[in-house]
Amino acid sequence: MLAEILTIGDELTRGEIVDTNSAWLAGRLWDLDVTVRWMTSCRDDEADLRAALAAACARVDLVLTSGGLGPTEDDLTCDVVAAAAGVPVAIDEGARARLEQFLSSRGRPVSEVNLRQARVPAGARVHASPVGLAPGFEVALGGVPVVCLPGVPRELHAIWEAGLAARVDELRRAHGAAPRIARRVYRLFGCGESQVSEALRGLVDDVAGASLHYQVKFPEVLVKLVVRDPDAAAAAERLAALDAGLAARVGAWTYGTGDEPLPLVVGRALLAGGHRVAVAESCTAGLVGALLTELPGASGYFVGGAIAYADDEKVRQLDVSPATLGAHGAVSEEVVREMARGARARTGAGIGIAVSGIAGPGGGTPAKPVGTVWLAVDGPGAGHRTFRMRWPGPRDQVRTLAAWWALELVRQAIGGARA
Ligand code: ATP
Ligand code: MG
Repeated sequence: MLAEILTIGDELTRGEIVDTNSAWLAGRLWDLDVTVRWMTSCRDDEADLRAALAAACARVDLVLTSGGLGPTEDDLTCDVVAAAAGVPVAIDEGARARLEQFLSSRGRPVSEVNLRQARVPAGARVHASPVGLAPGFEVALGGVPVVCLPGVPRELHAIWEAGLAARVDELRRAHGAAPRIARRVYRLFGCGESQVSEALRGLVDDVAGASLHYQVKFPEVLVKLVVRDPDAAAAAERLAALDAGLAARVGAWTYGTGDEPLPLVVGRALLAGGHRVAVAESCTAGLVGALLTELPGASGYFVGGAIAYADDEKVRQLDVSPATLGAHGAVSEEVVREMARGARARTGAGIGIAVSGIAGPGGGTPAKPVGTVWLAVDGPGAGHRTFRMRWPGPRDQVRTLAAWWALELVRQAIGGARA
């Protein structure tokens, strides 16, 4: 099944907002084994929208649009789609009821303008929004299903999850005996894409319908394992068999599967293990703390710590010895070890994490080139470990990578098993 994603809005074509809806929908459609053939964007212009819809319906089997469903005069999607379908515009009673409830709870009457958000083409299949006021809707134009969604990403996501995903899967099956797809995303850190593809070379060669896809999402690498088969159970079985082979080859780099990036995986592991951590950050200046607190409920494991950029502050806030600093320099194994110990001692946390490095672009030496970062994890249960990272990239990459390494060392220290 081939699809087109059409995003509508002047803000898009003027470059004022980035079209994240297309990328998000494309990912969801890929999950369902629907191939996105075209992604187009057009202005809030009636003639352009009409032309874009006609072009889309002529070349794919399913069209998804976003934007232009709001209450204002520039929101044209409903009118243009209704006209193309040859039906009048109607008010969706479910959406009207939600609108009335929402506004009356704020002591406001429903105005003409408000009511515009409850409009759908007469006879359309309505995809109610669990979080917004404007519903999505679906009509067939020349036999091609066209699903129109609000532009607000949160609303679009909610409508998809609430029922549209199941509907698209239904349309896909109605379209023909398309094969089922079984798919798993592995998340790897601490390796390059080429190393991973080298390690996995040949893994799926003799497995029918199986393929591997790689995506670099700095600083991690995603490996997507896909198995296609008309029989869903057979696809799942072959995927499970390949899973073991994949683990044997790249398990050491794999910190998880699915949607959760490392900060959330580590946060959950800390919470589950009842750990308490503190940070001592020099070159990352808070990035480690920010990543560690991405998970809601971070107060259950994150204590706090110090941003100690200057040497004096490493001494003052973390009790690093001036002699150690003098002998080895701030970017050294000896200093990060003392920083991690200081973070623990000062806060009473069970685990201390320290980072000190040269993010660049200046400040490197032959012995300590730009991109050299020393990290330490200190804790009774976590053991004591230091690690030297070297990354010849730009400043932002060095800092991001260092912060991720700090989290990875914590994950390893607390025995974060492969997900
Ligand atoms: P509204 O009720 O807010 O008018 P709408 O369905 O008419 O919703 P738009 O007016 O096109 O949608 O967009 C609403 C907001 O959603 C925009 O201001 C923008 O922030 C966001 N948005 C719209 N289209 C996209 C897109 N393709 N990708 C990401 N964000 C988008
Ligand atoms: Mg709008």
